[in-house]
Amino acid sequence: KTGSVGFIGLGTMGREMVRNLLKAGHHVAVFDIVGDAVAALAAEGARPAKSPADAAAGADIAITMLPDTPQVEDVIYGESGLLASPPRGRLIVDMSTISPVAVRRMQADLKVAGTDFIDAPVSGGPIGAKNATLTIMAGGEADAFARAEPFFRGMGTTITHVGASGAGQAVKLCNQLICGINLQGVCEAIALARASGVDLDQMRSVLMGGSAASWMLDKLGPAMIAGDASAGFRIDLMLKDLRLVQEQAQALSVPLPGTALVTSQYIEARAHGEGGNGNQALFKVYDRMTNR
Ligand code: NAD
Repeated sequence: KTGSVGFIGLGTMGREMVRNLLKAGHHVAVFDIVGDAVAALAAEGARPAKSPADAAAGADIAITMLPDTPQVEDVIYGESGLLASPPRGRLIVDMSTISPVAVRRMQADLKVAGTDFIDAPVSGGPIGAKNATLTIMAGGEADAFARAEPFFRGMGTTITHVGASGAGQAVKLCNQLICGINLQGVCEAIALARASGVDLDQMRSVLMGGSAASWMLDKLGPAMIAGDASAGFRIDLMLKDLRLVQEQAQALSVPLPGTALVTSQYIEARAHGEGGNGNQALFKVYDRMTNR
């Protein structure tokens, strides 16, 4: 069964998710503050919209895929935003990674206005977005999740309702913590392997067959070995997520020493002007430490 979607936020992730929603047969109206991003998807069959409200007009569901909490708040509470002009289906789903505290506030505000709100952050990166194989972790009321699920099916494969409002973000923050520390482990292994004079590509494929195998080693290892710091999940966004992890941990009095260490290393990378690099570029911090 297909339906209509208003999609807001057409960056690295959003544009691929829109393409897959179109492929799945949904009608999609798109909005982004960058006009070129709207025009590119209009050329592929989406309806270009002039505001979040315009994108949501007549839609069964409005989906947001934006950088951080302030942008999602802008799209919900701002002029021509979704609180004043919700989609016809009275269902808004935010798939960005943002503050779980802010999520619960938005859910409560929208509830008063008669609109359901689901937090549904994703994992799987631009590759997962492109291949419609994202892992989607959703928080909110069960009936609202059920209405959103057919649309999730167009974008992801592992789709789970993990609890009440904010729970999706709580699970996503655990995901990011593991990604950060795991990536750090891969960097350290490459630094040691290089100094030891072993073949790095072979090391990676050997380790992929054993207990050190991971998504990071598999998908990002080749770029790290090749010294490729270019696109991917940006360090700036990783630092945003690690900040959200730290905020959550402090509020709940949970010590996270591993997260604190890797956060410092990403801050060092940003201080070297590398915030726009993909997060695999953490290897550059190790290059500096080994005077490479
Ligand atoms: P991005 O910066 O590439 O895209 C964000 C888009 O939002 C941009 O096109 C920007 O112009 C638009 N935008 C910003 N403010 C806006 C506003 N007020 N109204 C309308 N549009 C606005 O980011 P991304 O990589 O696509 O990530 C989006 C979210 O998904 C982030 O929260 C990120 O942490 C999360 N995420 C990213 C990845 C990844 O690998 N890139 C993976 C999982 C989750």
